[in-house]
Amino acid sequence: MIYIINKKFVAFFACLLIVFMLLSIFSNSRVTATYTRAPVEEELFFPAFNVNVNDDDKLIALTFDDGPSREYTTKILDYLESKNIVATFFVLGIRLKGNDDILIKMVKTGCEIGNHSYNHKQFIHLKSDEVKKQIEYVDNYVRKVTGFSIRSVRTPYGEINEAIGKAINRPIILWNIDSEDWKKKDAKKIADHVLSDVDSGSIILLHDIFDFSYEATILIVEELLAQGYKFVTVSQLLELNDRNSDGLVFRSK
Ligand SMILES: [Zn+2]
Repeated sequence: MIYIINKKFVAFFACLLIVFMLLSIFSNSRVTATYTRAPVEEELFFPAFNVNVNDDDKLIALTFDDGPSREYTTKILDYLESKNIVATFFVLGIRLKGNDDILIKMVKTGCEIGNHSYNHKQFIHLKSDEVKKQIEYVDNYVRKVTGFSIRSVRTPYGEINEAIGKAINRPIILWNIDSEDWKKKDAKKIADHVLSDVDSGSIILLHDIFDFSYEATILIVEELLAQGYKFVTVSQLLELNDRNSDGLVFRSK
């Protein structure tokens, strides 16, 4: 009898162990929360500076987070190239392997590659050396494959505090227009939302991991080109600022 009970207990705990192992593998193999939420002042814990752009300049910085993706980043890049315009791609380390050609094309077409961390963990829960490792992985991979040295960083969820700012010690780029593409899931709604808010110097946040974001990009670009806007990378936008931008947070007005 004791033998039978023990056997049942062993089987039960073995099952429990397998379930926990599967859960942990599953949670590590995916990006736990992919999407970026708009930062509010209380969450920043750090001063943010606006990029100073004249209204007449009509400059726009399109930014794409959480890629690259084989399916959508390539389509977006082809489209941008066909219009001869540039954007900035804040890439994730876990999505780099197997996508070397996409990174090379970004650089070749004049787009900027930005650093969005290794695996989108919340930086406010990491130690400084872990933050540095998250950033270094992407820096090193991109430099090795493309020769491009990443300058701009966008932290996951736009989370910043003083320790994160010090650990990163270079420009941290937020946004002033959150397309809310992941929430709206409709190209027309996304484009209307962005276009209702846009002005010179806007930094627009999109994600290059959805079809509706790709379609919204076309609608946004067509309309802004018709209105006479020019597209720049975030580094080009930052060049308009006269201060040393290392470790500072930037977003538009
Ligand atoms: Zn993100």
